[in-house]
Amino acid sequence: PDEDGDECLPQYRHLLSPDLLAGQVAFITGGGSGIGFRIAEIFMRHGCRTVIASRNLQRVSEASKKLVAATGQQCLPLSIDVRQPQTIAAAVDEALKEFKRIDILINGAAGNFLCPASALSFNAFKTVIDIDTLGTFNTSKVIFEKYFRDHGGVIVNITATLSYRGQALQVHAGAAKAAIDAMTRHLAVEWGPNNIRVNSLAPGPITGTEGFRRLGGKFAEKSDQFSVIPLQRAGNKTEIAHSTLYLASPLSSYVTGTTLVVDGGSWLTSPNSFSALLGVWAAGANQ
Ligand code: NAP
Repeated sequence: PDEDGDECLPQYRHLLSPDLLAGQVAFITGGGSGIGFRIAEIFMRHGCRTVIASRNLQRVSEASKKLVAATGQQCLPLSIDVRQPQTIAAAVDEALKEFKRIDILINGAAGNFLCPASALSFNAFKTVIDIDTLGTFNTSKVIFEKYFRDHGGVIVNITATLSYRGQALQVHAGAAKAAIDAMTRHLAVEWGPNNIRVNSLAPGPITGTEGFRRLGGKFAEKSDQFSVIPLQRAGNKTEIAHSTLYLASPLSSYVTGTTLVVDGGSWLTSPNSFSALLGVWAAGANQ
């Protein structure tokens, strides 16, 4: 069971040791909402301290209060725009001042909406590439230079399966996330000798998220499209957080340069209907 909004789980039963990440610090971009929020919660429930960072300081501050209350761990909320390296550098300095270390980076910040390529402005395409792709590189490079180069670390990039079959109305996000999956492999090769593991995690449709609301999740639910997914349902945020925990923890100590798809088999069988999604877009589901 999961909570739909940005709330902590009312109950949690550990499947893994509660001290799996004890003493560690995770820097989570986009950690104030949706999937990033739940990743922060699950990491904190496994002994990790977290930094949650995004543009809206009020959002991350409120999220931090909930996370601390539910888990008893420390959580530092910071404002960054991943498109601006100087804001990332300032936040990483503050995080290192507070916690003296960073062990894990989760690149979760992203922007997305449904839009056919023919209606997509040049600027809209660029903005998604700026936030998703450049933002992931910017944050990874800042943390590499300030800490991981000398101490090692783990990076998990949250990507998507959109490009695998050329998902309709998603050329911007599909291209941005495919570039991140490539970046995952390049950085895994270059930074492996520094004891840094770099992997991607590609979620399928995940309930209780902005992505689900904006990208036709409700439409898919109503039109029974999730029954064609091999596991016959959408996933939830806790399932993504648990798979991220695997990639971030020593459980995956020999895993690097790969993409873990966590989608119930969705991309293999889900419809990729241009006309149906055009209908969702026209009805304003992406507003
Ligand atoms: P979300 O709640 O909207 O998360 C996106 C986060 O990114 C927000 O917290 C937002 O916070 C932050 N952000 C946006 N632009 C930023 C910027 N320029 N600088 C810093 N932070 C920025 O959406 P979500 O659905 O949970 O998605 C989380 C991740 O999972 C994303 O990478 C998404 O692509 C991926 N994903 C989601 C699904 C799904 O079904 N939900 C499926 C596949 C992949 P601020 O507005 O405060 O900046």
